[in-house]
Amino acid sequence: MVERVPCNNCGVPILTATAARTGGACMVCHRDPTARQQEAARERAAEIALATPQQELLTSLGKVLDRLTLDEARRAAERREEGIYGFFLMHEYFAMFSTVVFTDREFRLACEQHPEEEPVSARWAFWWPSFTDFGGPELERTVHALDLQERAMPRDEESPLLREIQRLCLVALRRVRGQGVLGADVVLALGAVEQSAEETFLYAEQLCNSDTLMRFRRELPWISEADLEMFRTHGHLACL
Ligand SMILES: [Zn+2]
Repeated sequence: MVERVPCNNCGVPILTATAARTGGACMVCHRDPTARQQEAARERAAEIALATPQQELLTSLGKVLDRLTLDEARRAAERREEGIYGFFLMHEYFAMFSTVVFTDREFRLACEQHPEEEPVSARWAFWWPSFTDFGGPELERTVHALDLQERAMPRDEESPLLREIQRLCLVALRRVRGQGVLGADVVLALGAVEQSAEETFLYAEQLCNSDTLMRFRRELPWISEADLEMFRTHGHLACL
């Protein structure tokens, strides 16, 4: 019978030979004395996340998105003299949220750096300089909990969760519009990684007045009416 003693940190049985080598700790605790606690805390958080009603998580996500998007829009408004013409809320599934501020100033700089681009197309193409991730522990916790619930779903079902999150983003943008933080001529839209220009336009359609939309449409010469119609009728886009 091999003799074992409890780890002096977490209590799992370990060989006396191990204890002699590590000063009484199991190998996990020897490498990082807080590892077991961290793992337990993660498991508890996951249990709580899975037990929280999804509607509750979505409600708090909506609140935090409203607040953060409004903060971002106010920050953007401080750059008014740079000539803001677009403000996009971007999301990448459950992982992150960002905003993009399009300004005449950055557009001019981009044109100088890329003289080969068609100016009209470039107007909405160069947005990396103004790409800002936003968030915080509250947003992260909620998104992580939703992510865990999503992963617990059967894979063959199309989850309505992503569309609901997109809808909450639209609601947050509508609030920005409603509060008049940015001028009515600023294009507001919901963006996403790998989203087509048509989809972006259809989101702008829900948030902008007709003059602003017409200008936006002229500046997206490559979008296809057929695709717009297809996206409209298929109805997989989030709607306010
Ligand atoms: Zn241990």
